Amino acid sequence: MINETPRVRFAPSPTGYLHIGGLRTALYNYLFARNTNGKFILRIEDTDRKRYIEGAVENLLNTLKWVGLDYDEGPEVGGDYGPYYQSKRLDIYKKYAEELIEKGKAYYAFDTPERLKQLHEEQLKKNEQTKYDKFALTLPEEVIKQKIESGEPYVVRLNVPPDKSVIVDDLIRGKVEFDTNIVDDQILIKSDGFPTYHLANVVDDHLMKITHVIRGEEWLSSTPKHVLLYDFFGWEKPIFAHLPLLLNPDKTKLSKRQGDVAVEDYKDKGYLKEALINFVALLGWNAGDEQEFFTLDELIHKFTLERVHKAGAVFNLEKLVWLNAEHLRSKPNAELLQMLREELKKSKYADLKIEDNKLLLIIEAMKPRVEFVKEFITKCPYFYEAPTEYDEKVIKKRWKEDSPGLLLKLRDKIAQLDDLKKEDYENILNNLAEELNIGKGKLIHPVRLAVSGSGTGPGIYNLLYIIGKDECINRINRALEKIKTTNPDLTEEN
Ligand code: GLU
Repeated sequence: MINETPRVRFAPSPTGYLHIGGLRTALYNYLFARNTNGKFILRIEDTDRKRYIEGAVENLLNTLKWVGLDYDEGPEVGGDYGPYYQSKRLDIYKKYAEELIEKGKAYYAFDTPERLKQLHEEQLKKNEQTKYDKFALTLPEEVIKQKIESGEPYVVRLNVPPDKSVIVDDLIRGKVEFDTNIVDDQILIKSDGFPTYHLANVVDDHLMKITHVIRGEEWLSSTPKHVLLYDFFGWEKPIFAHLPLLLNPDKTKLSKRQGDVAVEDYKDKGYLKEALINFVALLGWNAGDEQEFFTLDELIHKFTLERVHKAGAVFNLEKLVWLNAEHLRSKPNAELLQMLREELKKSKYADLKIEDNKLLLIIEAMKPRVEFVKEFITKCPYFYEAPTEYDEKVIKKRWKEDSPGLLLKLRDKIAQLDDLKKEDYENILNNLAEELNIGKGKLIHPVRLAVSGSGTGPGIYNLLYIIGKDECINRINRALEKIKTTNPDLTEEN
């Protein structure tokens, strides 16, 4: 395979949503392809008709589009090796199954479900490995022919040779040996004429000239069957790379019960695709140093399969939140503005007329304080509407007996000036504090409470500036009316 253009594929079975583990598989294939100037192929493995779900493929394609993992060949984009839906390739699988039958490497089997059940139970009773007993191989050719002609339902099974060892040479796990005595005579073609995953997967990987099979560790135990198939067909095997399992923080296999597993859920919760990609990239891989923040370009540049580790990768939601905040902060404000507009449309402020300039000021002020775009709204509602309530704890702590009087003075100073800039608010506060010979805190805390209802937020001068002169005055007036609780008992700390 020297000098061959790498060709890798993501081969999901549409289940209705893209699992976070599926995203990791897709991403590693994508990164590998982009890093090696190879091709990234999307193939839809939809041969399990029982699991067919309306809209599942569409959903999958949309999710891949959202995260931005574009593929070179596959549904919608086409390519030289299509169709890229397995359900449209049934004749191909049939032909290859027949080839195996001719070679004696696969066979027709006509067993009834009852017989198989009985066999299974007997084997269990005798503490034997449960697998097909090759009974169909004892049927004379005439009988087989006649059964097929008479329309009796059948399956095609892989003829696994006994007492052999199959080596799976895995790029991540090394050489893994399997004893063929524990490998079942896998059904290759089901009685409905559809292939099973194993046959379709191997045939397609071969026909689509896949050079590297990069997939989750849960497929490792199927790989000896695939290796046998490659050998039976006389085909060159791809390089296998099985990615480590994804684990819950308690080290059990990542499951729905312990959190979201669908990529869509993360999207709906407001995670940025950049953060999700970055996070998922680190589930099984690192760059060999301490770096944790990566853009997609950096990942493409740095990714190698050699740096994928064997040990299960623990899913740590806190890290995802942290990465979300980091990616959010690294975005240009203009982009955040668009995203904030989208969030506003979904919020109770959908009808509020608010200028881009003001939103940009909010973004700038809140950027260090938010982890999600929607927090540009939820963490600072006071930029969108006057507070109707005032934080009780802050009132207790910050609203002193002299606060109303001081706020009146401050309000009047603000009222005297026009076209106030951020610095003007700073000057007004500084000068007033100096004039009255008081600590600035005696003004800052009550005015923050008055205009925002809260005790925390962006810098006070910025806060006042963004809220604007008239609105500041209104809000101070309103607070003076509404906040009655004073705490003369409290020791003056400012
Ligand atoms: N269709 C399989 C899945 O759903 C593909 C496994 C593989 O990549 O071989 O994950």
